[in-house]
Amino acid sequence: MNYRPGRIFLSVPHLGGHEQNYVQKALEDNWVTTAGPNIPGFEHDVCQHTNARFAVALNSGTAAIHLALRVLGVKRGDEVICSTFTFVATANPILYMGATPVFVESEATTWNMCPDTLEQTIQARLKLGKKPACILLVHLYGMPAMLKELLEVAHRYNIPVIEDAAESLGSRYGGHQTGTLGEVGIFSFNGNKIITTSGGGALVTADEKLAEQARFLATQAKEDASFYEHTQMGYNYRMSNIAAGIGRGQIEVLEKRVKQRREVFNFYRERLESEFVSFLPEPKGSYSNRWLTTILLDPSLGKNPEEIRLAMETHNIEVRRLWKPMHLQPLFKGAAYYGNSLSQQLFEQGLCLPSSSSLPEEDLEKVVRVLKGELLQ
Ligand SMILES: *Cc1c(COP(=O)(O)O)cnc(C)c1O
Repeated sequence: MNYRPGRIFLSVPHLGGHEQNYVQKALEDNWVTTAGPNIPGFEHDVCQHTNARFAVALNSGTAAIHLALRVLGVKRGDEVICSTFTFVATANPILYMGATPVFVESEATTWNMCPDTLEQTIQARLKLGKKPACILLVHLYGMPAMLKELLEVAHRYNIPVIEDAAESLGSRYGGHQTGTLGEVGIFSFNGNKIITTSGGGALVTADEKLAEQARFLATQAKEDASFYEHTQMGYNYRMSNIAAGIGRGQIEVLEKRVKQRREVFNFYRERLESEFVSFLPEPKGSYSNRWLTTILLDPSLGKNPEEIRLAMETHNIEVRRLWKPMHLQPLFKGAAYYGNSLSQQLFEQGLCLPSSSSLPEEDLEKVVRVLKGELLQ
């Protein structure tokens, strides 16, 4: 996409150095499929780094969300409560299940699902005689959601929670890693995330049965028999031993990558924060991996993000708009939505800045210089 040499990308993979050793070994030993020692090895690594009890390595974060809905028993026609302010990959698996999304607006502190709106939504759906089957919440751009309040509401109504922690691997909430506090959590190792397996994901849970079921469903739901016996519909969702090898190398440098992304955020904040440009502060008790640095342009500046995006493009710098909320997507036209349109405002005022952990200082300086120039023009 618009590739020209010297381009400053939004977020690129950043290898740690040991990936090759794991991949080389896999090639030498002919473990090049969805079996082999890197897979349990990587699952173990994910557990070690997140304190999750069980991890299932999968071929995408989207697959992990799909399986999370499956193992929590979501059925055709069920309603699933979902953050509206997110990437479409959060919500698509609800459609795969033949279930119906009910979108909930964000709060202004973390930009994630608002606990009060969540409770109002549940009450409104209960009044209609529809008990939501599950709550799918996201930690957007790495910022932990208000989990204590959200989980309290979920427990009060006895509704299981899936944490979409695709963007927040390494982020912490009250000392716990995001993804490990709901019934099920998911991570993504897509190429643009904080670490990558070239493409992949993981489902984590403290419930051994759920983990076992996810692993079973991810491998075509093959029953324990000497021939091919199937009683359930399964999927081909397992991570390959090659991808897991890349993951093993990547997870070694996860903490370093979090530090580096946070440094990128601080670099921008120190130079760009003003009455016209605001950054999302970290609430007390939260530690964000700052996967992407986001800014909001004050309307009094009289600039719209699309203009700025295009202007940056002429300097070969990739900036992107914030996620367009799900309830505004044609795909979800007519879907139930509860809230005050905060996410629409964020969409209309916000931008993501180049945030790769490998960005050299001169590139960061260039982004700041060009952006300042565009904002002040
Ligand atoms: C990237 C992402 C996903 C999906 O992960 P893939 O590995 O690309 O399938 C899901 N949710 C959010 C919020 C994401 O950013």
